[in-house]
Amino acid sequence: VVKLSNVHKSFGPLKVLDGVSFEVARGEVVAVIGQSGSGKSTALRCINALETIQQGSIEVCGHAVHDEKLDKRKLRLDVGIVFQSYNLFPHLTAEQNIMLAPTCVKALGKKAARDIARDCLARVGLSEKADHYPEQLSGGQQQRVAIARSLAMQPKVMLFDEVTSALDPQLTGEVLKVMEDLARGGMTMILVTHEMAFARKVASQVVYMNKGKVWETGPGSMLDAPTTPELRDFVGSGL
Ligand code: ATP
Ligand code: MG
Repeated sequence: VVKLSNVHKSFGPLKVLDGVSFEVARGEVVAVIGQSGSGKSTALRCINALETIQQGSIEVCGHAVHDEKLDKRKLRLDVGIVFQSYNLFPHLTAEQNIMLAPTCVKALGKKAARDIARDCLARVGLSEKADHYPEQLSGGQQQRVAIARSLAMQPKVMLFDEVTSALDPQLTGEVLKVMEDLARGGMTMILVTHEMAFARKVASQVVYMNKGKVWETGPGSMLDAPTTPELRDFVGSGL
């Protein structure tokens, strides 16, 4: 469903992605890990065409993302992305936040959009919070609303960039549980995470990035037996 081949990306003189290649099959959960600055967020942003690449190719659900003729709107109907910051509209309730894109982008009627919003809120375990405003929700609940908002567009692939990094451990657990449920439901997911236990348990493939390269890749169990000293250090550092 997603294929990066020899992707190069620089910001001015700074080489951030240096020949990155990996593939994600339908229903697969890929965890991208690595030190700060190794290019994880940039790789995710390139997949959703939030950054343009200088060399290589990226295919996502049949879209040639590297092609200058790419229809970004169509691509983003297929790809949902959730960031560390939830960016909910403060003046809209949880339900209204989720209804926004289906009504504005997909031109669904209010009733259809509300049904979808309720269904998505149920999937993240927040049915009873539909009428709450963001400030009345905990950080973990806001992040779950943000995930529900993304799900409401019925994406084929979901990208998550350190969605639990701003949360304390208990709230982190709630959000990881929602992501695990999504994974079990067959969603194709690429997640940048510092949650090694989660990566080991849920990911079908772990991609360790270092210095803009895919340094090591394999199943979750590779974290128990790293072959490169860099990954050994990274895992050992407890990050
Ligand atoms: P972290 O774990 O801290 O989130 P990361 O692996 O996600 O790190 P990236 O955000 O991909 O790292 O950044 C990789 C490098 O690219 C960093 O050195 C960063 O400063 C640089 N960079 C990222 N975005 C830009 C930009 N828009 N302009 C210039 N440099 C950028
Ligand atoms: Mg990042």
